[in-house]
Amino acid sequence: MLTVHAYAATAASEPLAPTTIERRDVGPHDVLIEIKYCGICHSDIHHARSEWGEQTYPVVPGHEIAGIVSEVGSEVTKYTVGDRVGVGCLVNSCRECEPCLSGREQYCLKGNTLTYGSIDRDGISTQGGYSTHVVVNDDFVVNIPEGIDLDEAAPLLCAGITTYAPLRRFGAGPGKKVAVVGLGGLGHLAVKLAHAMGAEVTVLSQSLKKMDDGLRLGADHYFATSDPAAFEQLAGTFDLIVNTVSAKLDLDAYLGLLTVNGTLVNVGAPAEPLSLQVFSLIMRGRSFAGSLIGGIRETQEMLDFCAEHGIGSEIEVIPAEKINEAYERVLASDVRYRFVIDTSTLA
Ligand code: NAP
Ligand code: ZN
Repeated sequence: MLTVHAYAATAASEPLAPTTIERRDVGPHDVLIEIKYCGICHSDIHHARSEWGEQTYPVVPGHEIAGIVSEVGSEVTKYTVGDRVGVGCLVNSCRECEPCLSGREQYCLKGNTLTYGSIDRDGISTQGGYSTHVVVNDDFVVNIPEGIDLDEAAPLLCAGITTYAPLRRFGAGPGKKVAVVGLGGLGHLAVKLAHAMGAEVTVLSQSLKKMDDGLRLGADHYFATSDPAAFEQLAGTFDLIVNTVSAKLDLDAYLGLLTVNGTLVNVGAPAEPLSLQVFSLIMRGRSFAGSLIGGIRETQEMLDFCAEHGIGSEIEVIPAEKINEAYERVLASDVRYRFVIDTSTLA
């Protein structure tokens, strides 16, 4: 066992605090990673505050992990000490069901094992990346290509793959009009990725405050959703809308912006139920879909795509002592565009 420094949530209403946790011994198929950076995803806040159901405490959040391999198990062939690697939201799955066998481990029929807040197959609670080291089975580790700095790579492990997967699934590319709702951690990467795929990209943000950034990141158009005229002007425009908003939205208003047969895919995961008028779908053959992160193979594909297109996350690197402040700023949509913890400050 290795005792490592970490930052944990101890109760839904308490701030996160420094702690130490145990990491398991490196097994034959394990990789010990010295974590260099870990992104702060809005999902960390949902979990830490038990917004998606009662969390078991203490929990160390963090599923946007970038670091360096410092030890490998006897059977590991894919990685060696010194490799630049990442770990996202998944650290295990059954590996036998159809989704697992087809590389969609996030949809494991026997239940995936999340990087934190899950009970792993060995019965031990998983703890995430707000810590200095983690031990992960090599099947759930990916290579971070040279050319992407580790700090800018960390958010790709969740925010990147979560937006890449639905953009690919629904055919974002040349000739397609894609809207991204919410210019936060997920949204800003959705803009970069959809632009790199060749789509015509529109940002739908609450205000025009971040318009210069949105256009610089690759958007062709930018509208404020606080302006009702935007919904009239854009009616029937988009082939695909990727909704990254962490709060409840008026789905009917956004469905009205889709073309015939267009799709609104939700990756934003508000705690409250969303409702819609079924006529918003049936009158134009529209679809409302959901998407959960992405599989391991596709995560590697996304990282390689990012390296090829020079895509990293826009980040603000913070020391561990600023995690609670960062949570408040994320909740206030005051993030440009991902907080990343420098884990050397945990010691
Ligand atoms: P984030 O950085 O906070 O971004 C969310 C953005 O949504 C904000 O920047 C803001 O953009 C907009 N927004 C926030 N509150 C709003 C409101 N009340 N009305 C309208 N717009 C609002 O969060 P994130 O890390 O990108 O995560 C976004 C959501 O995705 C979270 O619910 C998270 O749990 C979820 N998520 C899902 C998956 C998955 O696999 N499906 C994976 C990761 C995260 P503007 O300021 O531009 O309006
Ligand atoms: Zn996440």
